[in-house]
Amino acid sequence: MRETKYRGRLAPSPTGYLHLGHAMTFWCAQERARKNNGVLVLRIEDLDPDRCRSEFHQAIYEDLRWFGLEWNEGPDVGGEFGPYLQSERRDRYLAAWKNLRTDGFIYPCTCSRRDVLNATGAPHSESEEPIYPGTCRSSVAAAVSAAERATLPPVTAAATTGVNWRFRVPDGSPVEFLDQHLGRQCAVAGKDFGDFVVWRGDDVPAYQLAVVVDDAAMHISEVVRGADLVTSTFRQLLLYRALDLTSPQFYHTPLISDSLGNRLAKRHASLSLRALREAGANPRSLRAEYAAYR
Ligand code: GLU
Repeated sequence: MRETKYRGRLAPSPTGYLHLGHAMTFWCAQERARKNNGVLVLRIEDLDPDRCRSEFHQAIYEDLRWFGLEWNEGPDVGGEFGPYLQSERRDRYLAAWKNLRTDGFIYPCTCSRRDVLNATGAPHSESEEPIYPGTCRSSVAAAVSAAERATLPPVTAAATTGVNWRFRVPDGSPVEFLDQHLGRQCAVAGKDFGDFVVWRGDDVPAYQLAVVVDDAAMHISEVVRGADLVTSTFRQLLLYRALDLTSPQFYHTPLISDSLGNRLAKRHASLSLRALREAGANPRSLRAEYAAYR
């Protein structure tokens, strides 16, 4: 059953200093939580040890508070659905991986990113994953029967390592949702997005899996995030279904561009909250200036 209480979340990754785009999306999340007398959760998405740094993690609290954000649950304030650091929630992701594996939704894949690019040859944007050509798809039957299940090797943490585990999308099926900001969104599995990784070969749970497990476990009723994640929402809806979890509502915010029309990224140091603060910017004026981006 859907939660009646509004629960929103801020889910930054400490892979760089947060910029104005993040802050305006978070501001929108805060406004929506307040309007609904709800709760706002801060969850730090620090799963990728190669990209996350503790200085960025520590900066998140300071930069977000400077911008005017406040949260009711989080690593620094506690709460009943913790821990709020993804690096401390591995057991939950592993349990979900086991369920997906037992139910035949995922398969091991030995293709490297380069293999996938070579096989697809399609142009791809930096942020979008190319459609997986299906090279390793046949390695496990689509649905594992009860008899076959009994013959599977025991599922252990070690079984996740060394290969990527991919979710088999239902080719040709439409996936739809009603975005609270953008309206009806629809994509076709296998055409607009392909089989995606839920557990990486270096034994790191992938973003798609972790975010679904956590949003469900933390009873998030609405996810507010940037429009660059709309395609991920389709993938995540398939995971909610496969894991038999209730999906939240989604509200995707417009992305802020720099003066050349490029979407802001953590590498745009001049628009980091840190740099803006050091340059004497006023959060209230920034919020008014960029009010359209929410
Ligand atoms: N941690 C992700 C990021 O910083 C956002 C995830 C989400 O909002 O679902 O890009």
